[in-house]
Parts: sequence; structure tokens; C-alpha cells
Amino acid sequence: MSVKFAAVKGMNDLLPPQIETWQFLEHTARQLFGVWGYSEVRTPIVEDTALFVRSVGEVTDIVSKEMYTFDDKAGRSLSLRPENTAPAVRALIEHGLAQQPLTRWFYLGPMFRYERMKTGRYRQFYQLGAEAYGAADAAQDVELIALAHSFLAAVGVKQVTLHLNSLGDPADRPRYLEALTAHFAPHVGAFSDAARDTFERNVMRLLDTKEEALRPLVESAPRLGDFLSDAARAHFGEVQALLGALKIPFVLDPTLVRGLDYYTRTTFEFVYQPVEGEGALGTAGTVCGGGRYDVLVHQLGGPEKPAIGFAMGLDRLVLLLDDLGKRPAERRPLLFLATMDGALKSQAVTLITALRQQGHQVDFDPRGGKIKRQIERAAAVKARFFAVYGEAEHQRGSLTVKNLDLPDGAPDKEVTVPLDALSQWLVNVAASLAVRPSP
Ligand code: AMP
Repeated sequence: MSVKFAAVKGMNDLLPPQIETWQFLEHTARQLFGVWGYSEVRTPIVEDTALFVRSVGEVTDIVSKEMYTFDDKAGRSLSLRPENTAPAVRALIEHGLAQQPLTRWFYLGPMFRYERMKTGRYRQFYQLGAEAYGAADAAQDVELIALAHSFLAAVGVKQVTLHLNSLGDPADRPRYLEALTAHFAPHVGAFSDAARDTFERNVMRLLDTKEEALRPLVESAPRLGDFLSDAARAHFGEVQALLGALKIPFVLDPTLVRGLDYYTRTTFEFVYQPVEGEGALGTAGTVCGGGRYDVLVHQLGGPEKPAIGFAMGLDRLVLLLDDLGKRPAERRPLLFLATMDGALKSQAVTLITALRQQGHQVDFDPRGGKIKRQIERAAAVKARFFAVYGEAEHQRGSLTVKNLDLPDGAPDKEVTVPLDALSQWLVNVAASLAVRPSP
């Protein structure tokens, strides 16, 4: 008996033709991040659960509700990575690289969170992220923000707003939390269960609550900006001045606390702002989030080492590019060669294989059969040119190549190309069409 399966809910198959948009984003990322001096790292998808508990924080939503955690056969508690900053820091320390004065990394890969699903929110999703270790200076914050900004511009996403905040230094936090607790405490009786829980577990997270009823209270809450140390305030001022010098616009957003415990000083997000209405992402409009985490490297057993990073949601960028009608040019075979059954088929397959090995996009139907069906196949794969490799062509040593993009009767509809000139002819045609080189 055959059994049908479906992909696990919230985990998507990425298929053609949309995969081309993914490849475009990944290709652009590798190019651009390389230019900016960032090297790729790939860490395992599974880590010790304790790594995330210790870094992301025990009372965050990610760790308390959203991790895919399991015991392996040796009884160790492991988790599918919900984010990649902690694994990257773990790798930096484990390989003795935290001793380097400056390290700049990027990564690209799947993350896993057991989230409530909606548009742009999945349980397996892909992040492109960058991390810079070793510089506490505002120039580092701004370099990283400018990198994210440039990448978004390079892939054609311009309708984004940069939100900026400073969470100050760890030493600034207790006084602020006290003030925040005092602000919300008199109203807790009227809170929803979820809000009361957040109040008790992590009061700062109330600032990015989605509950409308809490809005007025959040608006009037004390601002972390008023509790910053002089050093943190000066740093934040420098970040803003440098962004101004680079002409990167931003809005100050005092409620931007981000969902992870390890952030210090600068935090930022790029939020998609469609011209009209909500756009493809609905409420999941944040395409990139990041911030400074100056204590995490030390907290995970490394030296004191300032650091800053961001992560971008690739799934959301793909949705956005689709919505903006920005699909990469379709990949089309340049030539479709119809084959004859029998002895000539091996001649044709040899020719096709040689052309492919030279880098030409040549297609054929391995099933052979009626020429009429092979023409239909050529049309289905949107081949630009079509030719038959038959007895007459073989004897003559040339092909009659038809341009499928031209209407019947057009003057250049058919050309004769000698077999020994075919490769050069394909090079010329590809150049004239500006066909994309293979990645
Ligand atoms: P975070 O560190 O949680 O702010 O995540 C950084 C970015 O990853 C977000 O701005 C989103 O673009 C993306 N992201 C986070 N969670 C998901 C998810 N469940 N599904 C799709 N994208 C996500």
C-alpha cells in the first residue's frame, strides 16, 4: 500500500522557479559580504541546549516556548538552533579565534522555532547574518548597519525604515528595570494572563507587546534612553552622527528591545514599509534585526570581547521580492536539440554532452520519440532555439536552427549552423542575449 506524506507544518519545500530568487539572494550575499571583508562560517544545525539557555536567555519566548529540544541516544539535551549568534560565538571561542583582535563573519542557513504560523513566520526559516567581534567603536555599529542597508538596496528592497535604539550597558539595566516595574505594577490587575506573565518574567518585553490595550501604558513608560550611562549615551550619539554622515536615514524607536537577552547598547531593525497598505508581509514586516552584545563572548567562556551582529529573514525577503515583482530572469535553455531514435541518438547525445561541458545551456528529451512531441517539450521548457539532429543534418554536417522567439515567417527565423561552428555560434548568441552566466 502506498502512503502519502506532507512536509511538517511550518517547514517549506523551496522549489523552482522561486528557488531562483533564493539563489539570487544567496549569490548577492556571498559577493557583497565578501567585498565588505566578512567571511562565511557554517556551524552545525544542532547544539547543546544549554548554549541557547545561557545566551538567548531562559525567560525569552525563544528558549521557553519555541525551541525544538530533544535528547539524543546518549541522553544529551540538544536543540535545533533557533538563531546563529550563540553558535558563532561558541565556534569563535572553541577554535581559539576569540584571541584575534578583529573577526568578521557571516552565515546563511536554516533556523528553527516552534512559532505560531502566519505569513512570513515559519518553523524552519532561513537567516543571513553577520557578526563582527573585537571593536566597541561606533564605527563598527555603523559598518554593520550599512552592510545590511547595502544588501537590501542591492537586492532591490528600498522601502525599508531603519529603527534604532540603545539598551545601554548591563550596569544601566537594574535602575531602569526598577522604574519600569514601578510603572506597570499598579495596572497588573487589569492585564491579560500573557501580559502578567511577561511582566513577571521579563518586564522589558512588555515594551514590544502586540496587545493594543497596553499601548497607552507602553507609550508613557519610562524610556531606557533616560537611564543610559554617559559612555553609552555618547556611543549612541556617535552612531547617529555617523549614520547621518553616511546618509542612512533612521528613526529612534525607544520600544525596540528585541527578544533576546544578550543585547547591549545599539539595537536596530529594518522594517518593510510598503507604499500602500500592509504589503506581502502583513505584520511580519521586520526583515532584519540586530544589535550589540558586548558581554556575550565573555559569558560563554571567552575573553572580554565587544561584538555586534544582525540576522535577516530570507523567507521574508523572497516574499517581498515576489510582491515587488522582482524575480530574477528565468533560466531558459539556449538550444533544444531533438534526437532521432536509433544509431543517431548516440551521436546527438555525445554532441549535447560536449556542448554542456563547454558551458552551454542545451537541452533535449532523453525519451526521444516523435519530433512533434520534442517540439512541444522545447516550448514547455521555453528553449530559445530548436534544431533536429537527423540523418540529413548528420550527412551535411550542419543544423537548421529555428529561433522559437520569432514568429513563423520572420526573416531570421531559421539559420544554418555547421556542427563544428555550433559552440562558437552559441557563445555569440548568448552574448547578444546577455544570458546570465552559470552561478
Ligand atoms: P530575530 O533575531 O528573531 O529578530 O530574527 C531576525 C530576522 O529573522 C527577523 O527580522 C525575521 O526577518 C527573521 N525571522 C525570525 N523568525 C522568523 C520566522 N519564524 N519565520 C521567518 N522569518 C523569521
